[in-house]
Amino acid sequence: MKPKDEIRSQILSKVKKIVIKIGTGVLTTDNGYLDKEQIRGLAEQVVELKKMGYCVVVVSSGAIGSGMGELGIGKRPTTLPELQAVAAIGQSKLISMYDACFKLHGYHAAQILLTREDFEDRQRYLNTCNTIHTLFQLNAIPVVNENDTISVDEIAFGDNDALSAMVMNLLNAELLIILSSVDGLYDRYPTAKSKAVIIPVVEDVSDEIRQLAFNTKTQRGVGGMQTKLEAASAVIKAGEAVVIANGRVGKVLRRVVRCENIGTLFLPKKKRLTSRKRWIGYTLKPKGKVYVDDGAMNALVEKGKSLLATGIVTVVGTFQKGDIISICKKGGGMIFAKGLTNYSSGEIDKIKGHSTSAIGKVLGYKLYDEVIHRDNMVILLD
Ligand code: GLU
Repeated sequence: MKPKDEIRSQILSKVKKIVIKIGTGVLTTDNGYLDKEQIRGLAEQVVELKKMGYCVVVVSSGAIGSGMGELGIGKRPTTLPELQAVAAIGQSKLISMYDACFKLHGYHAAQILLTREDFEDRQRYLNTCNTIHTLFQLNAIPVVNENDTISVDEIAFGDNDALSAMVMNLLNAELLIILSSVDGLYDRYPTAKSKAVIIPVVEDVSDEIRQLAFNTKTQRGVGGMQTKLEAASAVIKAGEAVVIANGRVGKVLRRVVRCENIGTLFLPKKKRLTSRKRWIGYTLKPKGKVYVDDGAMNALVEKGKSLLATGIVTVVGTFQKGDIISICKKGGGMIFAKGLTNYSSGEIDKIKGHSTSAIGKVLGYKLYDEVIHRDNMVILLD
């Protein structure tokens, strides 16, 4: 393996588009108010990256945190209407502060509030992408957040780490910088005595790495290291890089793009997925599942084949032709692939286990040979 510094510069020198995710803990003071000095400093750094020629999108948390500060609430509300109301108050403060800070340098803050539904619908997805690209030409810096005020469970991203991974896919950006209140991924639980150190480079978000996600959640934020690792895993599988670093360290953004050894760098997997495959594999929410036998799993994973009815053992959920579904190993195994199905759940239930040539007889018609064509499928394993 090449020396770590060489790997860093090799990867980071190719970057053109950057998504910067900023967590609530980085943006608010201990008493919950937005930290104006901190936001001013980050805005200055973002502008510096713009001037260096990068296209930059900020994914900013802090709506709920700042709303809590405004209202003087010490503990995060627990009911949905309260959270949504607090977010509505906080989001306007948040975007005004970004706008004021970017204005000092002649840039606008452009507010983009999204729900998961905007990513599910291909037309809305492409519109969002076009809008962001237009903003790049208008001296504006897109500041994205979840539309907390209308998000309910079914349409929520859950956390902004997941949202930032989806924004990476949306833009085919090459680098996600997650700014958090910790320095990166520690090799053990950090205490005064534990001599924990930051892992500089991670090649794979393995089970071992996942076990290092100690609870670092803040009172006003949502995520913690676990959601960051899941976001990093999705991004590197799509073929792009991630750095988790401390947003309160001076000039952190400049230092990351200048390849300094700061934070934890997650290396991209070799193969870059096309934007359509990213959308299928890492953006769309599956509507159901099929469980397949070992032979089918092997054909899909090792031989790059399409999914045929004969290898399907069980179908779970109700879905239509054209929906995205997960493909799992039989016997309750993990999801190892996702794809757009050519048949509905009802049809699959009838043709499962049958050879392709028998589909016509079983259903009375045959739409396709494959249940999921290879071109509409993404394998999630490395
Ligand atoms: N959208 C939430 C907010 O602005 C943050 C979610 C998160 O931090 O992951 O408060």
